[in-house]
Amino acid sequence: MATGSAEAHGSAAKKARTGARFDTLAVHAGDQHDPGHGAVIPPITTATSFVQPNLGQEGKFGYSRCGNPTRSAYESALADLEAGTWATATASGMAATALALELLDPGAHVLVMRGVYGGTFRLFETIRSRTMNLRFTYLDLNDLEDVRRQMCKETGMIWVESPTNPLLTLVDIPKLVEAVKAQAAKEGRPAPLVCADNTFATAWNQQPLSLGVDLVMLSASKYIGGHSDMTGGALVTKDPDLANRLGSLAKAVGGIASPFEAYLALRGMKTLSVRMERQCRSAQRVAEFLDAHPCVAEVHYPGLTKHPQHELCKRQMRSGGAVVTVRFKGRPGEDDLDMMRRFFSKIKFWILAESLGGVESMINHSATMSHGSMTKEQRASVGIYDTTLRLSVGVEDCDDLIEDLDHALTA
Ligand SMILES: *Cc1c(COP(=O)(O)O)cnc(C)c1O
Repeated sequence: MATGSAEAHGSAAKKARTGARFDTLAVHAGDQHDPGHGAVIPPITTATSFVQPNLGQEGKFGYSRCGNPTRSAYESALADLEAGTWATATASGMAATALALELLDPGAHVLVMRGVYGGTFRLFETIRSRTMNLRFTYLDLNDLEDVRRQMCKETGMIWVESPTNPLLTLVDIPKLVEAVKAQAAKEGRPAPLVCADNTFATAWNQQPLSLGVDLVMLSASKYIGGHSDMTGGALVTKDPDLANRLGSLAKAVGGIASPFEAYLALRGMKTLSVRMERQCRSAQRVAEFLDAHPCVAEVHYPGLTKHPQHELCKRQMRSGGAVVTVRFKGRPGEDDLDMMRRFFSKIKFWILAESLGGVESMINHSATMSHGSMTKEQRASVGIYDTTLRLSVGVEDCDDLIEDLDHALTA
């Protein structure tokens, strides 16, 4: 009886999903029904093992590393949301990136968007270049001439991040994919896999799989979870062959998401649309406010009409995103870091912290936090100064956020 009604719930959910718009999908995506009790939310199944009725009769799940009902519900929902057909949930965003690299053979070459997330750079440069002999070339993936020039027979992957962190440079994804495929065809080689880190934009702003990439990587620790209380990552694809290979790799390597983290991520995902709608709208206002402020030297936000990639942003994304990067003007006779300390001593609502994507507004001081391991000169060469701040706009009342910034800036 219970099973019957749960199945009815499952098919009702499937019916509701057909043709659903994004906001509806965020709530109903995937296969979330609970065949045991018909629970509205998939329960957290902590079991490591699942009963096999007799020899050779393994059910849908056998051992939790290989598959778990809670994780599976979350993965199917995430796949829908990213316009894919298959997803694997990992223990962190970095675990997802590391898993994607397992697709490559030793000695392979990877083209990487210049300005990628620091953790990605570290994994590539200090780990996988040594353990897998991978070779990475960093370039502006919008410079298609350079992309064609750098591609060689070992090039197995193109690593896209759009927008980048913290300067929010975009990559024209359809143009890149087209150029990479055309170049590979011209040279008579299989096209390298194009993988996009969709952490900053989220599926709400852009669905890279629909823009032509083969694989989406994301950190669920940011906007998917959305409450600064979980760590997770994922890979999503709609290519069945890639899904098969990644499924085997995930099982073999084992860096999977726990049932509890999967539950939190799925719970967060249901409000992704409402959070992003508010956060991106507020970010636009914060960017416009800062852009007009006399204490501000420059604002990086693709939603501003004067941003050099604003037209691309309008084509490719629903909004400019929920992150705004700003550089304040220095003050003659005052040390920049002292000035920033004074700013932070006055700020009330914005939290000074690493990370982004939560409901609470946060400020990251790039020079001492995310990019603290670089020298001042290295930072300046990539456009990060002691007066650069990355703002992750939360869901608070935007007037409070703006008044708080104004007060601390003018003080
Ligand atoms: C945070 C982040 C990652 C890494 O994710 P973790 O969950 O911290 O491992 C990768 N890429 C981007 C753009 C990020 O912001």
